[in-house]
Amino acid sequence: MRRKLAAGNWKMNGTGDSLSELSALAEGHPSASVDILICPPAPLLSRAAAVASGSAVTVGGQDCHAAASGAHTGDISAAMLVDAGAGSVILGHSERRQDHGESDGDVRTKTEAATAAGLIAIVCVGESLDQREDGQTLDVIGAQMEGSVPDGMTADRLVIAYEPIWAIGTGKVPTLEQIGEVHDFMRERLTARFGEATASGVRLLYGGSVKPSNATEIFAVSNVDGALVGGASLKAADFSPIIAALESA
Ligand code: PEP
Repeated sequence: MRRKLAAGNWKMNGTGDSLSELSALAEGHPSASVDILICPPAPLLSRAAAVASGSAVTVGGQDCHAAASGAHTGDISAAMLVDAGAGSVILGHSERRQDHGESDGDVRTKTEAATAAGLIAIVCVGESLDQREDGQTLDVIGAQMEGSVPDGMTADRLVIAYEPIWAIGTGKVPTLEQIGEVHDFMRERLTARFGEATASGVRLLYGGSVKPSNATEIFAVSNVDGALVGGASLKAADFSPIIAALESA
């Protein structure tokens, strides 16, 4: 049985004041039947971990470097995330792929580093609008999964987030059939590569304009084990109903 996951990605939003939202979220969810994760900007991570301590909310990073340490100005290693209180890290988000030119190979080596450090890796995949309109969606997702996910992964260390690029921050959402088609496909690809026992334990998240108003119907789709949420994770008042929808799914 896969434990569902509501993951929030604050991206480059928030300063110390924003921890009041995390505090409200933590107070609103002293316990939960799903996993709840907030990934704040790196400078907030250790303070966020302290605020969330003792609640059902855990914290994570938004990226890590593939190397353990060294001359990489501005970068953060997986061990540093762990040291700051993170249990998970988002890797290969489309904004990292676009803004920083991250390739599938880069995401793969980061995923290896993250899992070796004991983190859960949330590996993001997703097609552009052009790719969807050209009928390439499943080919793109399959290739990204093949290239970004390392061999030998175990279900407890891997989460995959399907995030169509054209749905992120736009208010546009794929149809429920389109989400289901991709999620079923991802489960099949994992089964073919890692075997049934591992594949059936990997959580598959949908991400892209998830809101309180559409969460329930998205969470009812086959093989959707939760969501990776951007904008609607910034305020506890928006994220809490999404968590509640997942708990009821
Ligand atoms: C994201 O950035 O991962 C995301 C899904 O953003 P939003 O929910 O704002 O579309």
